[in-house]
Amino acid sequence: ETEILAQIKEIISSKSVELIHLQFVDIEGILKSVTVTVEQFDDVVAGKQMFDGSSVKGFSPINKSDLYLQPDLTTFAVLPWSVEEGYSEARFLCSAVNPDGTLFEGDTRNVLKKTVERAADKGYTISVGPELEFFLFKTDADGNPTRQLDDNAGYFEPSPKDFGERVRLEIYRALKAMGFTIEASHHEVAEGQHEINFKYADALGAADLSTTYKWVVKTIAQKFGLHATFMPKPVFGINGSGMHVNMSFFKDGENAFYNEADELQLSDEAYSFIGGLVESAKNIVAVTNPLVNSYKRLVPGYEAPCYIAWSASNRSALIRIPAKKGMATRVELRCPDPSANPYLTFAIIASAGLDGIEKGLKAPASINEDIFHMTEERREELGIENLPGSLEKAIAEFQNGEIGRKTLGEHVYGEYVSAKKAEWDSYRTAVHSWEIDNYQSKF
Ligand code: GLN
Ligand code: MG
Ligand code: MG
Ligand code: MG
Repeated sequence: ETEILAQIKEIISSKSVELIHLQFVDIEGILKSVTVTVEQFDDVVAGKQMFDGSSVKGFSPINKSDLYLQPDLTTFAVLPWSVEEGYSEARFLCSAVNPDGTLFEGDTRNVLKKTVERAADKGYTISVGPELEFFLFKTDADGNPTRQLDDNAGYFEPSPKDFGERVRLEIYRALKAMGFTIEASHHEVAEGQHEINFKYADALGAADLSTTYKWVVKTIAQKFGLHATFMPKPVFGINGSGMHVNMSFFKDGENAFYNEADELQLSDEAYSFIGGLVESAKNIVAVTNPLVNSYKRLVPGYEAPCYIAWSASNRSALIRIPAKKGMATRVELRCPDPSANPYLTFAIIASAGLDGIEKGLKAPASINEDIFHMTEERREELGIENLPGSLEKAIAEFQNGEIGRKTLGEHVYGEYVSAKKAEWDSYRTAVHSWEIDNYQSKF
């Protein structure tokens, strides 16, 4: 702790950091920030920065609203674009703390810490490699997003068709300067769609990286006069954006999902983890796919899953086992989308997998046929169930299962369910342009 503190102080003075942004997320994973001057540094590190928890979505009631921010020293980063502009700013990601010094149970970052502890009690550390896709839209004269995509290139298509290349290069440079290990960057299948991959990390670290990534992508895109969105299905008829979550458990420095002797080189723990995910899939999508719009992505034909099945290679399955083995052995869950709160998402996926391991579940038979083109009868024969088809159904399944309450804790669970019900109700009662188009002149 003191060593890292000394390093941070050294960077602050060598880069002439003036301002420090203290960042945290609300229940939806939306970034919040309060800026302090560098003179406040010692107090800030001591957790003395107070804020009004009643003004943050899903946080505290008005009568118990004083909360404090405890910066996580490992998340310190100088903002590269601020250095370029001749002055320096830095940021920390923080956890919310109660006035008595205990972790605030309404902060989703603290929820993930609980799941990390639960895994640690079993001797596991959780490794997570998320893949967040996004779209770039043009903006109007006021800087607001339009419906016009930035390019019409496709999968792995290079410049001159890929206009996003220049933006991804700047994003890559910024992320690298902030400590990310970037592995790859490419144009995705849909026009205007992109993906930049960073190296896996422990669950909390990966959730912090995901939060930072979304912020940096949006910030850099804006500098190019573009709007980056992590909305799951911004355009009908083309691929949506996923946040595939690659997860593995490590024990004593070894990948606990790897067994060289097995046909697929998977261990019993990996099969039980898959069994746990299959068992809880329906009950967790309200977290991994949190928006009304999330369910418009989970339809057949766009590389996003809609049936509950697993496979070693099949991209139509919910769960896939990527070909890389050994230390890289992992299970890929393909339903999550990047609008999800990464802290809650990684917590509930790990929790479902841990349940599978604790109960000694077996994975069902893997499905290697293309599920998108199967008849309903064939799916029934194979016992393949559907994922919930709407946010309404997902909330009902979330409330049916025990995993939501158990993983999120009473506070976040209650706030989450009521926020999602209100969202569904607002959508249900609104009159949409589809209805106008289809009904107004006909009836
Ligand atoms: N965009 C697809 C999704 O919605 C994934 C495509 C891919 O990465 N191969 O999940
Ligand atoms: Mg990918
Ligand atoms: Mg992709
Ligand atoms: Mg993937």
